Amino acid sequence: MEREQRTDRLDGDEVRVCTGNSEVLPKTEIQEGKGGNYLAVPAPFTMPTNLPAKVRPRPRVLIVGAGFGGLSAARKLGKHEVDVLVLDRRNYHGFWPLIYEVATSGLEPESIAYPVRAILHKYRCVSFHMAEVCAIDFERKLVLTDTTPVSYDYLILAAGSTNNYFGNDILAANTFSLKDIDDAESLRNHVLTSFEYAVRENNPMHRSRMLTFVIVGGGPTGVELAGAFAELIRHVLHKDYPMLDVTEARVLLVEAAPSLLGTFSPSLQYHAQRQLEKMGVEVRLNTAVAAVDDGIVTFKDGTQIASKTVVWAAGVRAAHLAEVLGLKLERGFRIPVEPTLTLPGRPEVLVIGDMAHLRRGKSSQPYPMVATVAIQQGKCAAHNIMAQMRFKPMKPFRYFDKGKMATIGRRAAVVDAFGVHLSGFVAWVVWLFIHLMSLVGFRNRMVVLINWAYNYLTYDRGVRLITGKHHGSDWFMREVQRTLLVHQAQAGGAEKRPQ
Ligand SMILES: Cc1cc2nc3c(=O)[nH]c(=O)nc-3n(C[C@H](O)[C@H](O)[C@H](O)COP(=O)(O)OP(=O)(O)OC[C@H]3O[C@@H](n4cnc5c(N)ncnc54)[C@H](O)[C@@H]3O)c2cc1C
Repeated sequence: MEREQRTDRLDGDEVRVCTGNSEVLPKTEIQEGKGGNYLAVPAPFTMPTNLPAKVRPRPRVLIVGAGFGGLSAARKLGKHEVDVLVLDRRNYHGFWPLIYEVATSGLEPESIAYPVRAILHKYRCVSFHMAEVCAIDFERKLVLTDTTPVSYDYLILAAGSTNNYFGNDILAANTFSLKDIDDAESLRNHVLTSFEYAVRENNPMHRSRMLTFVIVGGGPTGVELAGAFAELIRHVLHKDYPMLDVTEARVLLVEAAPSLLGTFSPSLQYHAQRQLEKMGVEVRLNTAVAAVDDGIVTFKDGTQIASKTVVWAAGVRAAHLAEVLGLKLERGFRIPVEPTLTLPGRPEVLVIGDMAHLRRGKSSQPYPMVATVAIQQGKCAAHNIMAQMRFKPMKPFRYFDKGKMATIGRRAAVVDAFGVHLSGFVAWVVWLFIHLMSLVGFRNRMVVLINWAYNYLTYDRGVRLITGKHHGSDWFMREVQRTLLVHQAQAGGAEKRPQ
């Protein structure tokens, strides 16, 4: 977007005003970047306050993270008289609830992601930079990135979450995760490559290890992934590999708690488990993983299972950025915030979504790490920033709980919302509709709808591609890399970190 620029002279100091993305700095503190952007150098800088209204800069709100929370805040702020800059290390917004479909060949990666610039271009005062935030200088109101430092008047931290391995680096090195598109593609490539290798493997023990898929964590992600893998194997891969006895392939869903889907009603938990078992998934409850090493999963009760594919869906923690900010952290590395979502003692900094730790009412539990919380907190943060600018009181965050849902497979899902418990076909239709409507972009909705219809009618999946130039050597290199990582972690001793 073209930014209108003008130069004004005030009290002898030249200032440059870029309207639409206002950056007003004394001339000495401006330098022109490669792309013609004005970069704030990390020097102490105070915003002039006694300027006439027509040249007074508009406050700049900086949003870190273009996920569910960050985008929701940006959209709301985009309707007001502020300049908003969104930073994200990726140039796309990912719709993570459907990422398991990418891992199981159901959807193309592009259909669950959308370019952030395309989402934001209709808001004149909102811009986007692709940059990874490395640190924040709260005193100087400066965000340090892998490219340029950026100044702010108000800051929203919405960098989301990452996997929690509870300080066990070996688990991180030896398991697959499902947190972004790269993870999903890597898992899909690995599973399909396992079948390619298994088909020419004569040793039944090695073949069984290649065809055993263990998913750790019986929450919605684990349940959805287990169901989708079972269907991929039963409906699709058995046709692709007629020379292979696909009944040799096993999908195990392992959960440390006594039930799957811990936050759902007991009847839905039972239904989900029965449904998965009918689809051939082996569900192991009260089973915690102690170690994953060299293709062997060891459980805390001492039993073991051989598997080349272990997916970690058992723990989530705030994004790594939370750890480097020098703030006191709560369980899961989440940042404690006031009910207004502001940092204690720093009302200009707000933290939302998976990063934020805010107790739910009088409960000792924080709000769950789900998209609906992040979206609603994004709106609340935007409201509270505008309230501060207008010298009005901020409002505490109130969550409107829209319920929860998980799909298990074809014509099977569970929905727990407003005291109503649905399962089976009706729940599945509700799940399909809500996920379709929540996707960003008309094109993506159409592509997903067509894919789902195709998959449903043909029992087929179109995206069974093993991508990457030398996937055979990739497989080998990954094995070597993993072994090295394990040895390094063992040699250094896994660092003990808080949960
Ligand atoms: C596999 C999976 C399935 C899920 N299914 C559901 C579901 O069905 N329903 C549901 O409600 N929730 C679901 N969730 C949870 C939901 O996706 C999260 O709660 C939600 O995304 C949190 O929103 P957020 O804005 O806090 O973070 P995110 O949406 O994760 O966005 C964070 C953004 O910050 C960026 N970022 C991180 N660190 C930096 C940095 N240092 N510098 C710059 N940018 C950075 C990331 O690139 C990302 O774009 C699922 C999550 C996963 C992983």
